[in-house]
Amino acid sequence: MIEHDVLAIGAGPFNLGLAALASTVDDLNVAVLEAQPELRWHAGLLFADATIRGSFLTDLVSLVDPTHRLSFLAYLADADRLYPFYLRDRFRPTRLEFEDYLRWVASRLPSVRLAHRVEALRWDTRLERFTAHVMRGDGTRLLMCAKDIVLGVGTEPYVPEALAGLPGTRLVHSAEYLHRLDRVDGAGRVTVIGSGQSGAEVALDLVRRNLDGGPAVSWLSRSAHTGGSPETCTPEYVAYFHALPEDRRYELLREQRRGVTPGTLSDIHELLYSRELQPGLSEVELRTEVVVRASTVDTAGRAVLDCLHTDTGTRFQHRTDLVIAATGYRERSPHFMGPIRQYLRRDTRGRPHVRLDHSAELDPRVSGRIFVPHADGHSHGTAAADLGYGAVRNATIINAITGRECYRLPKNTAYRSYRIPQNGG
Ligand SMILES: Cc1cc2nc3c(=O)[nH]c(=O)nc-3n(C[C@H](O)[C@H](O)[C@H](O)COP(=O)(O)OP(=O)(O)OC[C@H]3O[C@@H](n4cnc5c(N)ncnc54)[C@H](O)[C@@H]3O)c2cc1C
Repeated sequence: MIEHDVLAIGAGPFNLGLAALASTVDDLNVAVLEAQPELRWHAGLLFADATIRGSFLTDLVSLVDPTHRLSFLAYLADADRLYPFYLRDRFRPTRLEFEDYLRWVASRLPSVRLAHRVEALRWDTRLERFTAHVMRGDGTRLLMCAKDIVLGVGTEPYVPEALAGLPGTRLVHSAEYLHRLDRVDGAGRVTVIGSGQSGAEVALDLVRRNLDGGPAVSWLSRSAHTGGSPETCTPEYVAYFHALPEDRRYELLREQRRGVTPGTLSDIHELLYSRELQPGLSEVELRTEVVVRASTVDTAGRAVLDCLHTDTGTRFQHRTDLVIAATGYRERSPHFMGPIRQYLRRDTRGRPHVRLDHSAELDPRVSGRIFVPHADGHSHGTAAADLGYGAVRNATIINAITGRECYRLPKNTAYRSYRIPQNGG
């Protein structure tokens, strides 16, 4: 049996960041197990010009240790691209280069093991360790163990029930968009559903194709494309959110959606404007306040969406050749967690109770800890999915695991005050 202090499952940005910060802590032995043989970061939406939402400071380490050897700036210097990046005068890395940065980090960390899929996780009461059954890409089976686990298995594409009436040939999730361009190009009309950043980026790409003589485009969304306050992603707000009553937290989660970046909206506007003097192009239709309630196919095999215009209560049908569901992602509920689920303490909605340090509350018979960065949105708010919060969360986890302050956490993070007002004081 191979023993480590920590087994981190999944090597997306969050667990890679954990491995990066742990690499400078001498007495912490972490193994990061990634199922895929190579690192990819949302490949189906990797548009050449798309940028990450924040600046390069939202890399894996800088917001807790800007001098770290695995910062984005260190990567640029190593690739000798520091100067071109500086002269570009825009501080948001493209998503393509952010993916390349992730690979660069992984290649410098012996703790990251690609092609290692965790198939089962158990608590061994005799050893007082979690044991992980791991399948390597070459077919070898390994048994690994650790006192603490960090689950960084990410999310999975979500398609709402209202689209269940569509066959696979008429429906593509936005996560697969760039892998399904043959279907896009072969359609007469493509309809995007969803008002988040993915929906906007797909709509932008479709309008570009439309200008080149591509299909008609409809973008239907429930809400206007506005964003929330960036301070909801600060550690101060996270601590405030974590202390709120359960019902209020769930209410706020429904209200606090990350909107579309102003740059993407302005790019779409610019393209629509440039269509004005180009006759003969297929139609482009942008509609908000629309909820898709059900879906089916007509006798010709086209997709038919049963829609509601929420401001007026009007119901209408929308026909299209292909639907791109930019309907978001849901927490993964990994199969390998089966034997562990009995130990998780849950809230009234059946979600795990997650402490402020991101560990799940477990049955007292289990002396190890499971940290759940893949499933702490309900306890820590919208920051949970934010790259910029990742370094702070990982530093918090490392401090909790080692029982000392390996990393000093930033305290001055928000201008709004999130302390609960005291009566009479
Ligand atoms: C298109 C897109 C763009 C985004 N851009 C931004 C942005 O600019 N800024 C921002 O703040 N946030 C952004 N996000 C949100 C968030 O930062 C990302 O979703 C981020 O990838 C989450 O990282 P993660 O480590 O949790 O999971 P993931 O990146 O999903 O990685 C999880 C990993 O776990 C592995 N895994 C799963 N099961 C197993 C198993 N059994 N054994 C071993 N490995 C396993 C998977 O193969 C995967 O590699 C974006 C999200 C999307 C969808």
